[in-house]
Amino acid sequence: MSDGTIDEIKARLNIVELIGSYVKLDKSGAHWKACCPFHQERTPSFMVNEEKSMWHCFGCAKGGDAFAFVMEMEGLEFREALKMLAERAGVELPQYRGETQNKETKDRIYDLLELATKFFEKQLWDGVGKEKILAYLKERGLSEESIRKFRLGYAPDGWRHLLEFLTSKGYKSEELEQAGLIIKKSQSQALNPQPSTLNPAYYDRFRDRVMFPISDILGRTIGYSARVAPGADESQAKYINTPETPIYHKSRALYGLYLAKQAMKQAGTTVIVEGNMDVIAMHQAGIVNTVAVSGTALTQEQLTAMKRYGNEVKLFFDMDGAGQKAARKSTELALEKELLVSIIALPFGKDAADIGKDDPEKLRTAVARSVPALQYFLQAILKGYDRGTSDGKRKIVDEYAELLLFVKNPIERAHWIKELAREIQMDEKLVIGVVNAAFLVRERRERTTPFTTGRPDAGNAVSFGKRSELLREELVGMMYADKTVRETLLGLLMDDETKTFLEKHPLFFFLLQAGERDPLSLIEDERLKSEATRLVFRILEAPDFIDVAEEDRVGKMLRIATGYAESLKIEITKREKLIALERAIDEARAKKDKVLEQELVAQFTEISLDKS
Ligand SMILES: [Zn+2]
Repeated sequence: MSDGTIDEIKARLNIVELIGSYVKLDKSGAHWKACCPFHQERTPSFMVNEEKSMWHCFGCAKGGDAFAFVMEMEGLEFREALKMLAERAGVELPQYRGETQNKETKDRIYDLLELATKFFEKQLWDGVGKEKILAYLKERGLSEESIRKFRLGYAPDGWRHLLEFLTSKGYKSEELEQAGLIIKKSQSQALNPQPSTLNPAYYDRFRDRVMFPISDILGRTIGYSARVAPGADESQAKYINTPETPIYHKSRALYGLYLAKQAMKQAGTTVIVEGNMDVIAMHQAGIVNTVAVSGTALTQEQLTAMKRYGNEVKLFFDMDGAGQKAARKSTELALEKELLVSIIALPFGKDAADIGKDDPEKLRTAVARSVPALQYFLQAILKGYDRGTSDGKRKIVDEYAELLLFVKNPIERAHWIKELAREIQMDEKLVIGVVNAAFLVRERRERTTPFTTGRPDAGNAVSFGKRSELLREELVGMMYADKTVRETLLGLLMDDETKTFLEKHPLFFFLLQAGERDPLSLIEDERLKSEATRLVFRILEAPDFIDVAEEDRVGKMLRIATGYAESLKIEITKREKLIALERAIDEARAKKDKVLEQELVAQFTEISLDKS
């Protein structure tokens, strides 16, 4: 966005207030400090600078402005963060040029899904679903309050109820198809059209089904999970879900997240159950930090989203073969993400919804009795073999080592190796040997997978160019830290060679574009933004600046920056010379001119060792 809206939002929001509404901030010198909400730590390395409207964590290197913070914290896309903060700041958003089309399409899908959700709710509470569906849900143990909170609904039997309703509200069939609500007939079906004049080429996707709306982090419906209605044709798939659409991606969606996120954050833990009904039963039992995946195995993306709220996941899966397999696979993924994983064990043959219906207290007990996944699977493996025999011992160690491969923390790994050794009464060192062997096998496997081997363009000159790169980084950081510094430096550094060199830094572009604005506001990419704030904080925290009063800081920064700019020019000239020399050395070598080669190498060494 080239207008000033982002700056205006930032100017109106107090970053300390905003971040303070999520984490407890303490004043510390020129900054505010807290324990980082994005990684586990005991001593605070997360800092907020009120005056610059920036935050940065020295522990995990994340950082940015208010937008970057809510994106990270709430798991939002930039546009969503913009919307949220604009609302908070009371700033009206203009339409984005070039993205208007895309945004309008998406907005219309959100709107029509909201209408569809209301339509399904109405069918459930006042329409054809009132008798059997509502009774069924209550019979399954759901309270009216829960049914309303999760916005359950009913899609009546028939081919075009929803289609007709939404068309009458002004939506086009193509839009409904894009939202995943209706299906286009295949050619063969089209030959035998339904006796209706309205959109004969389409029909409702969800027919005679209990509807569970899936919402995004802001509570907007993005899709549905639909259960076949009781007494309906049970030969159909029990659950069907919305297909991939511009706003629904099953690998990212989490059922119940919107209602669970606050509790997830408070507990620092997410409970993951298998089904929608289980989520509702858990919420009803007061275990509100519960979500489910919809129509997919747990994915890395979903775990990333959960990790924003806390470092622990508890898996509450069925005890049958499929459930256990899913629990094992999910454990591996979560361990890879360096999450703490526990297993909530259930009596065989029952799911959370069944138990919750009979006695919600049992659900709470089960959650409280969760065991670390590494202990759970160790016990499961021990049960599979005779630990009294050497053959049994070996198989146990081999199998458990496979799981330990996913444990990244060496202390944690050592702990479980000790446990394993104790259980099978074997010398710990021997067990470590087997586990390490498993690691080696995997490493070798990974090493043989080819990765790109690119030769750096300027050869050896690159390593001698390190100093120029460091200077460039410092200068870019200072230009982000202060507008006067930026303007002065941009004036000093605009000769061709220097500019070309600076332009290779991914953050330089925004400095040129900024003008009167804060260059940080021009960056939308999360990683780039983090990098920019990291550079700024590194400077503000440097001994040169940390205790310097605000009014003296710019002057001091200007003096240092001017010196750096001069050094950089010298370095660049040197670098150019080195690159030219390298080329000449290569040529001399090709011509087998030993004397010339030696002469050039001597020059090369002299220049590169000169630290002036
Ligand atoms: Zn951190």
